[in-house]
Amino acid sequence: MEDGSGGDNFPVTCKNCGSTISQSDKHCKYCGATTAAAAAPVSYATYGDIKYSSGRLRSLGIQALLWAFFAIIIGFVVFSASEPDGSPFTDLMRMTSILAILSGIFSIITAILAFIRKGFAFALTACIISSVLALPLIFGIIGLFVAYKLYKYRNDFDQ
Ligand SMILES: [Zn+2]
Repeated sequence: MEDGSGGDNFPVTCKNCGSTISQSDKHCKYCGATTAAAAAPVSYATYGDIKYSSGRLRSLGIQALLWAFFAIIIGFVVFSASEPDGSPFTDLMRMTSILAILSGIFSIITAILAFIRKGFAFALTACIISSVLALPLIFGIIGLFVAYKLYKYRNDFDQ
């Protein structure tokens, strides 16, 4: 509703997707969230968004870090438990465990960049490399999901 003062059209930020919408909108035109529940005035929203966006990057960083610890520990345990005995299965185990350790290292890079919210392109690249290295393990798929989330939250990174 246009009342001429612009009061109803006070810009607000959708809490669900972060888009800038009008306070008069009943629903966010981008994601459909109800604005009454989803939006706050920009002055609050800006502050809220910083906390919100660093929060969701931080949770992605924690996921990346959890994977890194898991991958590196499992990788070392499997690698040291499988003495080379000439069997192809042992070689495969050792190869997979090395890939897991490398995946973990790239995942740590992703986590650090997500925590400091810097270097989106590097964070995404490291995450994809980490995922591809872990693809022989099913867990690479989780890494690709994290990469997708990173891409979705790319504006949360400081440019
Ligand atoms: Zn929205």
